[in-house]
Amino acid sequence: MADGSFEVYVAKENLKFNAAHFIAYPGFRERLHGHNYQVTVRLEGDLGPDGYVIDFGLVKQATKRVCDALDEYTLLPAQSDCLRITVEGESVEAVYEDGSRFVFPATDVMLLPIVHTSAEELARYVAGQVRAELLAVGARPWRRLEVSVAETRGQSATYSE
Ligand code: ZN
Repeated sequence: MADGSFEVYVAKENLKFNAAHFIAYPGFRERLHGHNYQVTVRLEGDLGPDGYVIDFGLVKQATKRVCDALDEYTLLPAQSDCLRITVEGESVEAVYEDGSRFVFPATDVMLLPIVHTSAEELARYVAGQVRAELLAVGARPWRRLEVSVAETRGQSATYSE
């Protein structure tokens, strides 16, 4: 038999989240704005005895849970090198290096363990969450996981591990 490889690809309309963010790095900050982020997942692996690399349903459910956890939040990069982020009581405050100050209800914010809320870093974060969700449901081992996060149609970043 030929030495080929198999990959499953999941790109569904409902694998999306709507979120607010702004890119910030020393010397530059975007204004707060939002995207309807669309997520796609590719998994490469061996064919199991059932003819699957992995059950599509598991991938869709795992990815949907990750998207839902981000939906309708303001995403803040907890490891930012130019934003001072403090959680005080029911509020989250983010102060940029020039003194610009945002205050959000803590319930509306998702503090992510990333440096920038770029599509690239979001793709890496989402990949980690999808990986954890798949492992939690006992998904069969795979070789490579690839996640793309699109800010708008035709503009996406991809992370693979
Ligand atoms: Zn943006």
